[in-house]
Amino acid sequence: MTDQSDSRPLTRPGFSGADAPALLLALPDPLLLIAADGTAHLNPAAQTALTDAAPQPGGGRVTGWTALFTPEVAGVLRGPLEAALEGQTARASVVLRPGGSVTLVTAAPAAPGPDGEARALLHLRETGAPLSVALDFMDGLGLGVAVQGHDSRILQVNPSATRILGLSEAQLSGRDSLDPRWRAIHPDGLPFPGDTHPSNAALRSGQTIRDVPMGIYRPEPGDWRWLHVTAIPHTLPGQDTPEQVTTVFADVTDRYRMEADLRGSEQRFRSLVEATTQIVWDAHPDGTFLPPQPGWEAFTGQSEASYSYAGWLNAVHPEDRARTIECWQRATLTRQPYLVEHRLRRADGTYVPMQARAVPVIDDGGQIREWVGTHTDMSDVREAQQALIDLNADLERRVQARTLDLANVTRFSTLLLTAAGEGIFGLDLRGVTTFANPAAARMLGYSVERMIGHSQHELVHHHHADGREYPLHDCPIHQTIQDGQTRRVDHDVMWHAQGYPVPVAYVVTPTHDEAGAVSGAVVMVQDTTERERAQAQLRDVIENLERSNQDLEQFAYVASHDLQEPLRTVGSYTELLVRRYQGQLDPRADQYLHYMQDAVTRMRSLIQDLLGFARVGRQETPLEPTDLGGLLRAAEQNVRATLEQGGGTLEWHTPHAVLGRPSLLLQLLTNLISNGLKFRAEDRLPRVQVRSELDGEFVHVTVQDNGIGIAPEYHTRVFDIFQRLHLRETFAGNGMGLAICRKIVEFHGGRIWLESLPGQGSTFHLTLPVAPTS
Ligand code: ADP
Repeated sequence: MTDQSDSRPLTRPGFSGADAPALLLALPDPLLLIAADGTAHLNPAAQTALTDAAPQPGGGRVTGWTALFTPEVAGVLRGPLEAALEGQTARASVVLRPGGSVTLVTAAPAAPGPDGEARALLHLRETGAPLSVALDFMDGLGLGVAVQGHDSRILQVNPSATRILGLSEAQLSGRDSLDPRWRAIHPDGLPFPGDTHPSNAALRSGQTIRDVPMGIYRPEPGDWRWLHVTAIPHTLPGQDTPEQVTTVFADVTDRYRMEADLRGSEQRFRSLVEATTQIVWDAHPDGTFLPPQPGWEAFTGQSEASYSYAGWLNAVHPEDRARTIECWQRATLTRQPYLVEHRLRRADGTYVPMQARAVPVIDDGGQIREWVGTHTDMSDVREAQQALIDLNADLERRVQARTLDLANVTRFSTLLLTAAGEGIFGLDLRGVTTFANPAAARMLGYSVERMIGHSQHELVHHHHADGREYPLHDCPIHQTIQDGQTRRVDHDVMWHAQGYPVPVAYVVTPTHDEAGAVSGAVVMVQDTTERERAQAQLRDVIENLERSNQDLEQFAYVASHDLQEPLRTVGSYTELLVRRYQGQLDPRADQYLHYMQDAVTRMRSLIQDLLGFARVGRQETPLEPTDLGGLLRAAEQNVRATLEQGGGTLEWHTPHAVLGRPSLLLQLLTNLISNGLKFRAEDRLPRVQVRSELDGEFVHVTVQDNGIGIAPEYHTRVFDIFQRLHLRETFAGNGMGLAICRKIVEFHGGRIWLESLPGQGSTFHLTLPVAPTS
């Protein structure tokens, strides 16, 4: 192979057409003579390279040249061949066989054929052998290599290129740099036009284009890769423009990502430094503090001149300086981190508590490159610490106070439990006694220790008073533990250790745990033995009293009733004696007769009153709503004569109705009114006022007079039977009126009492049930 083996020597004068066959046969490069009709004559080298047939010494002939090449290669060669047939020399680079090396094809016009037809020579020069070594070498370095033709079509690639680009060799071969499928971009994201691709730029300029960053899209994994692309043009000797370009590219995606990450974290770090209240500074390896220190300057207000070297110490509080110098010297000598707290003067002159830290930055050689330090404002931290200390102290105080309270409460509760007269039990959820006070133990004849830890129900509450068994689910104490409701039981028994029932009343209250759930119960028990005995006695007394009352009433009634008959007889005969013998006997006899008459009259009135008293409530007529106004009108009629004789007045304002027996109520009011008129003061006309007002379920009636009044010591006694405060001669009466009044009021379920002072009139109060509103 010689350098002269291109088209130009063929056109050089000196060679004649007659030399051509000899040349054809002699050349070691494949050479084809192709006629316009497609017939090709191959020299032996071409025969060897392009056909399977054994080379003929005189060369071989083929009817259709395209059959010698793959369709792609034939397609590429057609253009240059046609140009050569028309008299132009043209070139193309092709790869004859997949995986083979690049072959430079030169098509040159040849002398016309015997029949004058146009002919062209195709000269094939394999350029690949050294290239494949380079390709392998690059592959070993992980670099992608593509050999591209003058039109930037890819002729050959190494395996790294297929890996980096994510495309097979077949997909890559023939694709040019203008292909839009690359979707190439610049690092700033703008599109990378194909005509500015390094390979095209190198082909155009003939210059090597180095390290152009480029992003390409890989459809197969569907990702973007970053490449650094270098394009090296190849210009063949004697040529002006490059025929080929070798494009070498490295995948720098990982580095790009790392750099982007780094840029991000650097950015973050910068913002952090800016945002923080810290001062960031640096110092020389030997500890010298030199400008510029913008953070320091901004905080302290010191100028470069004043803080340089040891000047910065002037911004440290005088009391903290010695310690600071010592720490800084120790750190720079020992190359250990510097850490000190001191007060630093701010530009406004105030000292701020600061924490200073610095670390040495060591270079690759193990030497300190610089010190990087920070000052952190500790005011907030100090304040927070102080607040925390105060808070703790306060908490401590409160805990102590609370503990004391609790101790007091505990002592008090213990005292209360011990001293309480009532028995107190505590039960847990199972009904087991957890505590019992001495009173409880005493009441039931057990020791406290014996009771604690045992089921309360089984020990003391197992049976009813009548001996029936007491099932647990019926037990109110157990029910309270179940449902958390407080219960009160007035009659029950608990069993004494000696086997007899103790009558008890108790209250069961649930206890709760911290979460609010029922945790048991407290039972406060009262021994009701005494109470029940007293109540039984009271019942007996009442029964006896009622019985004797009834007997007495019966006696009074019967006596007064039965006495009426003989009295009438005595009265009739006395009358007869008077009528027939008055004035016929001596005056003494007349006097005796008069006494007898008087006594009979008085006795009759006494018996009437007594009978009236005994009769109250004996008739079984029903109670009815009764208008007080109507009663007052009737009472006024009853006392009319007295009013007219004595010149007294009766007024009333009684808008209410009561529930009662009208005849009795009339008697009641008439009695009170006539007393008011009867016990009149000498110096004034009698005046009685009756009023009523509503008082809950009762009507409160007052009968007020302006009479002589009653001394307080008689306020109760006046309601007893036959009680009188005056001589019969002064005020007539039997002393039964108020007794009957009281009986009538009490029969209606009300009360009667009086308010009075001698000489100031009297007010009688009584309550009667209000009539139901219909
Ligand atoms: P009597 O039938 O004698 O009036 P009462 O039972 O009505 O008896 O009254 C008992 C006594 O109470 C009267 O004797 C009188 O001394 C005193 N008394 C009753 N009402 C009045 C009154 N309005 N003012 C003063 N004293 C009264």
